[in-house]
Amino acid sequence: MAFTTLQVALARPLPRPYDYLPPEGALVDGGWLGCRVRVPLGRETSIGVVCGLGQAEVDTQRLRRVEARLDATPLLPGELWDTLQFASRYYHAPFGEVWATALPGPLREGKPLPETGAFGWALSAAGREAWERLRPGRPRALAEHLASAAQALPEALLEADVPRWREAARNLRERGFLERQTLDFDVLPVRPSLALNNDQSAAVTAITAQVGFAPFLLDGVTGSGKTEVYLEAVRHCLARGKQALLLVPEIGLTAQTVARLQRGLPVEVHALHSGLADGERAHGWAAMARGDGRVMVGTRSAIFSPLPEAGLIVVDEEHDASYKQQDGIRYHARDLALVRGRALGVPVVLGSATPALESQRHAISGRMTRLALPRRAHAEARPPKVRVVDVRKRKLEGGLAHELLEAIESTLARGEQVLVFRNRRGYAPVLLCHDCGWSAPCKRCDAPLTVHAGGRRLICHHCGYSAPKPLACPDCGSLALQPQGQGTERIEETLQARFPDARIVRVDRDTTAVKDGLAKRLAELGDGPGIYVGTQMLAKGHDLPRLTLSAIVSIDEGLFSADFRAGERLGQLLVQVAGRSGRAERAGEVWLQTHHPEHPWLALLLSGGYAALSAPLLAEREAAQLPPYAHWALLRAEAKDASAADAFLAAARDSLTGHGGLHCSGPVPAPMPRRAGRARAQLLLQATERPALHAALSTCVEGWYALPEARRVRWSLDVDPIDLY
Ligand code: ADP
Ligand code: ZN
Ligand code: ZN
Repeated sequence: MAFTTLQVALARPLPRPYDYLPPEGALVDGGWLGCRVRVPLGRETSIGVVCGLGQAEVDTQRLRRVEARLDATPLLPGELWDTLQFASRYYHAPFGEVWATALPGPLREGKPLPETGAFGWALSAAGREAWERLRPGRPRALAEHLASAAQALPEALLEADVPRWREAARNLRERGFLERQTLDFDVLPVRPSLALNNDQSAAVTAITAQVGFAPFLLDGVTGSGKTEVYLEAVRHCLARGKQALLLVPEIGLTAQTVARLQRGLPVEVHALHSGLADGERAHGWAAMARGDGRVMVGTRSAIFSPLPEAGLIVVDEEHDASYKQQDGIRYHARDLALVRGRALGVPVVLGSATPALESQRHAISGRMTRLALPRRAHAEARPPKVRVVDVRKRKLEGGLAHELLEAIESTLARGEQVLVFRNRRGYAPVLLCHDCGWSAPCKRCDAPLTVHAGGRRLICHHCGYSAPKPLACPDCGSLALQPQGQGTERIEETLQARFPDARIVRVDRDTTAVKDGLAKRLAELGDGPGIYVGTQMLAKGHDLPRLTLSAIVSIDEGLFSADFRAGERLGQLLVQVAGRSGRAERAGEVWLQTHHPEHPWLALLLSGGYAALSAPLLAEREAAQLPPYAHWALLRAEAKDASAADAFLAAARDSLTGHGGLHCSGPVPAPMPRRAGRARAQLLLQATERPALHAALSTCVEGWYALPEARRVRWSLDVDPIDLY
């Protein structure tokens, strides 16, 4: 006799779902699909999602029963379900891993969908009576703000308007001055919007006139007012009763973007990013799922937000590499945004001052509509002046040329702000023995150790190894161990020594690790003069109106990288860093220090901007049949010894033979052949036609899990890799 079974995708690296019997007496129908269940697994229990129904002969299988159904209605319905299924097929990742990636932690662990009523904060009767007697300070500022409002204010609005309101709220609440109230959303105050210029209006009209799916490339120079265009498009979307999703590349940008949207929209703007507590993430997700949430702003993983009433998807800074997940399922949020937009029948806007070559290609071929914002929006803002500083044979002070230091000095004297960009955190990239040339390596990685803590510590940026700086060279015993080159820490030190009275704010992973670290750091200078020193975190879309001088300490590493994306990346970086400067009424300058002032990429950028550089780069890609003109997948393996990694990759390669239209290169050692004590190797799969690549992978990947060679390695498949390390 045949029984109905449930196919359950568990959140584990298993290639296939497991079969279970339904709970005793339960009726099985299609309503189970997309619901979470708790199931026994070995001696434990696990959470899974029902992804199919099947039949089993009770005699031949000893199936276990589902312990509990956790959702009465599917948690992953309709289009979201289809998109996750698509992602599973496209990235050749087990469905269990895909849904686990898509859900916020508490939901992944089987917790119920949280309550999503809308709440806000107001002064209590006692608070209204007493607040004017409070001492000046943040609690009083918050109380005053709440007292001036006619109704309870939602957290998102406080987030936007009152710095560090949460601490202040805790303080007031402890004294009984504050209460939480249910909100009525129609009446959130909205600030009047800016009058859009003609280019902005044309872009908004094109987007809002669109019925159904259409991809747009909003190609707007830095400071051209792209965010205002998003805001206006979201307003239209809300007016039609639809939901909007906006992706931003960096946690630090979420706060700024949420604040800007919140000021202009009559509904609560939800946020979803890794800086939030688990509960907050689940709350935002649930709000969108129920339709209480109308606008979501988030980083990469927010692409999996439910959008039952979708109207618009925006991907800001679409070229940013952080949209590509680099572990687990290696999905690209921009690409999935297009997939979802098509499935949902809504416009998708990709915005950037430096569009990815992939997107440029679509705009050229007409698959995507280009909307151009060629000028800065602020009435008096002009494009920044660029100055190339040839540092050959120059004596530098801590890596900085004298004219640059003088320019910094006069910028500070005018009361303005400076950005000094260096894409290396730490004190110095290497510790070198001046007598014999020894440099400190990481014992577990094929990479040098980075000098930190003013020269007193060595840290490996790849495996986290950390040790005090040795007293003497282990090779020759010399005491002449010297930090070589500059990291952000050392540049900060140099600048502080040179400008002892200036306020200097360092912005890199070491200084922004705390919650909202980037936003807090960026707020430190306020409107006053000072210097930001930092890594590429600083290069992304921040709007710092007082900043008038951007300096790039060295662009040379980007000029001679082996990566075929180096030219595109360098162009994006230079334009984005330059784009921080002179965004408002004061004119901006950009200084580039280089040993290669005649490099052709630099000449192209200086004469015609990013467009002038990207056109020949795209032509080169086509001539050399590189992505986006070819389709790649990278199979990576790492193991205790290199031969195990090679053996696995060779077996995988053998399984692929006979598939036409596919070219395999490797196994070869990875660009960093050893990391954290493990040997790393890779196999590159290339195809001119995407279907050939996917057909081969669809037949082979499942078999790789079962290869005997797979037991000794950790492996992963990266479809459309953006880094080959
Ligand atoms: P982008 O996102 O393209 O870098 P922003 O939206 O941050 O640009 O706008 C840059 C600056 O120009 C901001 O200070 C913004 O307030 C201002 N701005 C944008 N649109 C207008 C407009 N239509 N009129 C006046 N100022 C504008
Ligand atoms: Zn030595
Ligand atoms: Zn290491």
